[in-house]
Amino acid sequence: MVSLVSVFLWLLGGLFILAAMHPEAVAQHKVLPRVIVGAVLVVAGFVLVVLAWMPRGKAGAASAGGDGIPGGQEAPGQLSLKPIVCPHCGGQVDASTAKLNPEGTLTVTCGYCKGVFMIQEEPKW
Ligand SMILES: [Zn+2]
Repeated sequence: MVSLVSVFLWLLGGLFILAAMHPEAVAQHKVLPRVIVGAVLVVAGFVLVVLAWMPRGKAGAASAGGDGIPGGQEAPGQLSLKPIVCPHCGGQVDASTAKLNPEGTLTVTCGYCKGVFMIQEEPKW
C-alpha cells in the first residue's frame, strides 16, 4: 500500500523533473519551480518508504524509554525489589540469597540467624 503510493509519488516527481527540462519550460523560466515540486514529490515518496520500513519497536522504545526490559513475569526479579525481613530474627535478608526450588517456591537464607524461609507470592509481612 505504502510502496504503491511512493512509486506513484516518484513517477509524478520524475514527470515534473522531465517537464522542467522541456525546452518550453526553459524558455518560460519554469525550470526551478518544477524541479522543486518534482524533488519534493520524490523526497515524500522516499520518506514514506523509510517510515514504512522502520521497525515499529524502535519508535516505541524511543517514546516509552523502557521497552528493553521484558514484562515483569519473573517473580524472583519482582520480589528482590522489596526488602525481605527474616521472620525469625527480624533482620533484613539479602535477596540475592533467594533460591528457586523445583516446586516453584522461593526460599531465602537469613544472613543473621542462618534461618531458611519461604517467600510467598503475596507477602504478608
Ligand atoms: Zn534471621
